[in-house]
Formats: sequence, structure tokens, C-alpha cells
Amino acid sequence: MPFRATVLTLYPEMFPGPLGHSLAGRALREERWAIDLVQIRDFATDRHRSVDDTPAGGGAGMVLRADVVAAALDSVADARPVVAMTPRGRPLTQPRVRALAAGGGVTILCGRFEGFDERLFEGRDIEEVAIGDYVLSGGEMGALVLLDACVRLLPGVMGAASSGDEESFESGLLEYPHYTRPVTWEGRTIPEVLRSGDHARIAAWRKSMAETDTRLRRPDLWERHEGARVQPPSGARRTKD
Ligand code: SAH
Repeated sequence: MPFRATVLTLYPEMFPGPLGHSLAGRALREERWAIDLVQIRDFATDRHRSVDDTPAGGGAGMVLRADVVAAALDSVADARPVVAMTPRGRPLTQPRVRALAAGGGVTILCGRFEGFDERLFEGRDIEEVAIGDYVLSGGEMGALVLLDACVRLLPGVMGAASSGDEESFESGLLEYPHYTRPVTWEGRTIPEVLRSGDHARIAAWRKSMAETDTRLRRPDLWERHEGARVQPPSGARRTKD
């Protein structure tokens, strides 16, 4: 069974959008993954088909109704994890992407306006995910980001050229820099080591560049990486004192 995404949104016409092109688009046509769209508005119950209402307590904007969104969600209830796009959610990481890609698929809830009625998260098993510390106007872009990250990891999507294993974040480090022909561009030459054909030296250079780049550009990642290295081996328990 291919990876199946179900996206609940007020704007189903935004999908597959960019995921209909390039690697993800080809994989979609090859049925390596599938996308189903649910129009949240179809689950509105009143005459005006309203999906939102004014915030309790006052204030700007509108809030997505728990009853309408839950009805939409319940219409797709199955074993796949349900992810809601929210700015306060757990920041999306490559390990989480990898775990989702390894499963059967995902159901994604896209917010709009001020977001969802809080009771939705109490009444349903929903994982909140953020794609970064900034605010989008809707969850659709976040859903596209999450799906793009998952789809490229599916079997047969990237091809043999990219194993994916050496890429940024996979080892907890950023990736080393890349070069390609021409050998000299505007007076700048590809580092000699990369033209040496000495695979051991190349690997050592790449490892050292990845470490240096991570330390300088992302001290937060570097600290976590170093912390993970000095952890006791699995199985070892810290005794209480
Ligand atoms: N009032 C909210 C912002 C709502 S933005 C707040 O201040 O937190 C509208 C919708 O866009 C959200 O419901 C969510 O689905 C989506 N969204 C905005 N920023 C996001 C982010 N960083 N990650 C994931 N989804 C986001």
C-alpha cells in the first residue's frame, strides 16, 4: 500500500500544487503515494455553511469551530496519525519526517484564521506540528512542506543517486558543501581534495566540513550532536543517588 495523505482544508484546490511537479509529482503519477482532500466546509451544519465563529472573550479574527472540524476529521478516522498544523506545535524534524514516511501515511489538518477551538485538541488524538517560528496565513503551506519532506523518502522516489543518509540533519549535522564543474569559476577553484580521487581523504574532509559548518551555523544542533555522543550506551542506566 502506498503512502496515503489525507488533507483537511478549506482550500483543497491548493493541492497537490507544487507536489504535482518534479520528484513528488512523478511519484504521485507512479502511485508511490496518494493524496485525498477533504473540504472542511462540507461538514458545516448551518444554512450559511459556516466553519468559524468569533473568539470567545472577544478579540480579533475568527476561530475554527471544534464541532465542524471534528466531524470532518471523524469522516476519515483510521489508524494513520493525525497532524494539525499549528505555530505552537512541536517543530518538525527530520526524525519525525522519517517516522511518518515509514508509516502508512498521515492525515493533516490545516488551520486558517486564528486557528482551532482548543477543545478539538482535548477531544481528539492530534499531534500539533509547526514548521518554524513564524506565522503563516494557513496550514496548507505547512502541509505541503511536511508532505514534500515525507514523499522524497519513500522507496523509489529519489532514485539511487541520493541515499538520503548523508544529508543535512540525518546525522544530526548539516551537510558538507558541494561543488561541480566548471573547476574554476570567477577565479575560484574547487577544493583540491575533491579532485584528488582519494576517497578516504574526501570522506575525512567532508566530515570535518560538516562538523565545522554545524558548529558555526547551528550551535544548537552541534550541542545536541555532541551531547548525544557522550550519552551512556543504550541499556546503561544512571543510578539514583
Ligand atoms: N493565531 C495563531 C496563528 C494562526 S495562523 C497564533 O498566533 O498562533 C493560521 C493557521 O496557519 C494556523 O491555524 C496554522 O494551521 C497555520 N500556521 C501558521 N503558522 C504556522 C507554523 N509556523 N507552522 C504550522 N502551521 C502554521
